[in-house]
Amino acid sequence: MITPICEFDLRSGSLCGRCEQKLSSGQISTLDIEVMRVLVEGEKRFTFLRGCEYLRSRRLSGELMAVMIKCANIDEKGVQQLSSYVAERLKSRVKIVRDEENVNDFITKLVHPARIVSIRRVWLPDGSEELRISVDDVRKMGDAPNIVEEIVGSLKGVNIRIG
Ligand SMILES: [Zn+2]
Repeated sequence: MITPICEFDLRSGSLCGRCEQKLSSGQISTLDIEVMRVLVEGEKRFTFLRGCEYLRSRRLSGELMAVMIKCANIDEKGVQQLSSYVAERLKSRVKIVRDEENVNDFITKLVHPARIVSIRRVWLPDGSEELRISVDDVRKMGDAPNIVEEIVGSLKGVNIRIG
């Protein structure tokens, strides 16, 4: 797996100077290191991880942790299995999220199997921007709308509202 930290450091448990710098500057967090370590150890079982890139993890409300990776060769089943593996190792609820460069594509995957019917860009009174997403049926979504809103906000830095 491609990681922002040397694989050697992850396996040995201590950081080299350059990686220590990334941690102290806030470029990566201790949570990132914890998750990357588990993923690197999981490479033998989940061979598709070798072609994946680790991006970042965030703790969300409800004891849920979202882990974003960039992966070409991973299917829905792989995502499910990897989520349970990481959840078990870190004793937390975990959602593995596949990154997409395009925010609309990213959101499309998260609301699946519901479908997006419209996306409207609105400006809030404080000058920030919000995407208002309408889906065909919120009950069809795999996760609650507030979870998806939180994932997109914390991992992609984009404010969205699903309704
Ligand atoms: Zn290093």
